[in-house]
Amino acid sequence: MAPMTLHPDSLAVHAGRDDLADLGVHALPLDLSSTNPLPGIELGGMSYEVLATGGHPFEGGSNVYARLWNPTVARFEEALAVLEHAEEAVAFSSGMAAVTAVLLAVTHESQRRHVVGVRPLYGGTDHLLASGLLGVEATFCTPDGVRAALRDDTALVVLETPANPTLELVDIAAVVADAGDVPVLVDNTFATPVLQHPLDLGAALSLHSATKYLGGHGDVVGGVVACDARLAAALRRTRAITGAIMHPLAAYLLHRGLATLPVRVRAQQAGAHAVAEWLRTRPEVHRVHFPGFAESDPLGLVGTQQAGPGAMVAIELAGGFDAAAALTSSVQLFTHAVSLGSVDSLIQHPAALTHRPVASDAKPSDALVRLSIGLEDPQDLIADLAQALTSTTSTGDSAAGRAVQTAR
Ligand SMILES: *Cc1c(COP(=O)(O)O)cnc(C)c1O
Repeated sequence: MAPMTLHPDSLAVHAGRDDLADLGVHALPLDLSSTNPLPGIELGGMSYEVLATGGHPFEGGSNVYARLWNPTVARFEEALAVLEHAEEAVAFSSGMAAVTAVLLAVTHESQRRHVVGVRPLYGGTDHLLASGLLGVEATFCTPDGVRAALRDDTALVVLETPANPTLELVDIAAVVADAGDVPVLVDNTFATPVLQHPLDLGAALSLHSATKYLGGHGDVVGGVVACDARLAAALRRTRAITGAIMHPLAAYLLHRGLATLPVRVRAQQAGAHAVAEWLRTRPEVHRVHFPGFAESDPLGLVGTQQAGPGAMVAIELAGGFDAAAALTSSVQLFTHAVSLGSVDSLIQHPAALTHRPVASDAKPSDALVRLSIGLEDPQDLIADLAQALTSTTSTGDSAAGRAVQTAR
């Protein structure tokens, strides 16, 4: 294990690579085996038993089968656990598979089926909780309503900060205090371990859609949960039973990408700050949501809970839905697409897309557009937004907006 005294940037480069020298390799090995040779029926059977119940492989045993254990995935998990200040981490085929596994594991372990969801949440998480699909009964609330929402059978409190898509910041330690004995899951996707460590603030689990900043290049789908060893075993057991393990190629790409995560996040954050400042000066923009602005951070959590504002910006267009739709179709350097955290900049309309399944009383404004700032020069991004805002207001082009509205 890389010594914990290293700077986080150094850990991002070196964590999870301790066995490489003994293997005689320098770059991360990619093990694509779907099955593994067994040392014999007795030891093979024992290995199966240990891994299927959430344990680690043992000396002289076998990894048995790739749904149970994969060394490339395990190295990524070890690295992520170090960055998250966690004992262990468990990786899944997507962020939603990770959320699903947490809900299944904690409700099964505690024999409780009630979950408190602190809104706003990512649309998919909100949908999963509201659907009742997993036998979970959800109560949604605001951060100050957690205590009132708790029941005798509450298994988990779920929160996200910065929250998607409006970038509201939630005081993690305050929610943990209100939750009492009930474990709190923090979706740390937007902040990344570069900016925020939920477990240090008392959260039981820190979850990522690894598809976003951890991957960072728009070419991986994955999810990961950092937590203590006991919860990690429950999650691995759930993962083995339900079959939601991360693919080794995804783990390889994610682990490779962790080395540049700190520099990517800091550079993207600086770009986002420049873009957000400029957007604030534009008459077409009614409101800019960016945690780096005092009005977006009333609790003063940037600099304390969260080391920086992050690289996401949300804007409300003065021209409402038509202006939002026109902007997303007029940009040229930004890609109009869902997802976030990539090296290239993305723009999307949450109410129509990522937050489409959210109940209408909790849906984001129709005038809201979300920007994920990449590594382009901020002046190029600003120039693109300038031409897109100007072309949409000068032509008054709402035909595209109307078409989208009809399609909704
Ligand atoms: C994308 C996202 C998810 C879901 O992750 P997938 O990898 O798409 O399954 C969960 N939480 C947040 C905050 C997200 O942005």
